[in-house]
Amino acid sequence: MKQSLLFVPTLKEAPKDAEVKSHKLMSRAGLIKQVAAGIYTYLPLGYKVIQNIERIIREELEKIDASELLMPALQPSDLWKESGRWEKYGPELMRLQDRKNRDFCLGPTHEEVIVQVVRDYVNSYKKLPLALYQIQTKFRDEMRPRFGLMRGREFIMKDAYTFSATAEDLDVWYKKFSKTYIDIFKRCGLDTKIVNSDVGQIGGDEADEFMVMSEVGEDSITYCDMCDYAANQEHSGLVEGDPCPVCGAPIKVAKGIEVGNIFKLGTKYSESMNAKFIDSDGSSKPMIMGCYGLGISRTLMASVEQHSTESGILWPKEISPFQIHIVPVNLKDEFQRELSYEIYNNLRGKGIEVLLDDRYERAGVKFKDADLIGIPYRIIVGKDSGEGKIEFINRYTDIKKLINKTDILDYI
Ligand code: ATP
Ligand code: MG
Repeated sequence: MKQSLLFVPTLKEAPKDAEVKSHKLMSRAGLIKQVAAGIYTYLPLGYKVIQNIERIIREELEKIDASELLMPALQPSDLWKESGRWEKYGPELMRLQDRKNRDFCLGPTHEEVIVQVVRDYVNSYKKLPLALYQIQTKFRDEMRPRFGLMRGREFIMKDAYTFSATAEDLDVWYKKFSKTYIDIFKRCGLDTKIVNSDVGQIGGDEADEFMVMSEVGEDSITYCDMCDYAANQEHSGLVEGDPCPVCGAPIKVAKGIEVGNIFKLGTKYSESMNAKFIDSDGSSKPMIMGCYGLGISRTLMASVEQHSTESGILWPKEISPFQIHIVPVNLKDEFQRELSYEIYNNLRGKGIEVLLDDRYERAGVKFKDADLIGIPYRIIVGKDSGEGKIEFINRYTDIKKLINKTDILDYI
């Protein structure tokens, strides 16, 4: 893509209300734009990263045979009355009425709708298990929307639901999702800790949260460096230095960002909403459910928080909006211009995602923008272009090398 045509409105100053580094950078790098409190437009560069995260999620969920569907954001109150959550959910639920004064809400989560889908088609153990997921916009009227995409009132989530005939089968899915989440987050550049949590709003048997350790996180996590122990401080009650309940080593406490959350729902929704199946012995039983949420827009935010300095982002490879950034020092120089386009066309021909800074701007401006938007590999076309030489920078290692244009592909 040519940078002159890509809409990347970079800013010198972050908006005043941006408190944390990732929010500042995402505004300055032209990734997101605020529309109202907790509501954002994803600008082209930011949306590219969202799409990369979504691709990773789809690839990983395909491996465990989960099928994708898409449910409506607009949901009738009838379904929520069946589950009992129309009354219980409280002011976080965005409610509205249609022209006939019928009540609706904008889905903060989709247990009601998924149960309505499955109960109407599945009536036998032979059709179980099922794992269904969607990638969709969620609405929650959060009391304190903040930190940009971290806590939005409209945000993108992947939510999955499993339906099993037995508790053992739910265990199997729960473990598969847990492992898959670790893999997804790793590919997004995030190391996560699994933290056992209470079940809160949704209710059920067991729950785990996936936490990215970060000082801007809203949860306090007690964890152990010597073993896998980690818990939400709210539940563990431990403080820094207490002995680890598993291995006895001193406990540490740090803040964490919750990027994912998995629950064993059990039969809570299948009982209240009458999702039953006939088992092999002929008896009628409620389906046993699991649900698995992953905050896509929050994952983007967490990744920027982890992979950046005050002056710019450095994208993890798999979610970077482009792989290579070509920056000609002076586009008015004929050699530089020709070589830049030659390399650009070559790399594009090989299917590599490359951004060419074809703007007639001063080199300083272009480098500043390049540092800000954070593409990991950079090709600088400068004074050696007459001899067909360019500088290749690996921004992860900061290793710079002068190489011949014919060696670029090998070098990559
Ligand atoms: P939190 O404790 O942060 O409010 P939650 O327990 O309400 O999260 P879930 O209902 O389990 O979250 O939603 C699944 C995932 O969706 C969360 O792990 C998080 O990554 C993401 N998420 C939840 N609320 C928001 C929000 N307001 N903005 C952005 N992402 C969110
Ligand atoms: Mg919440």
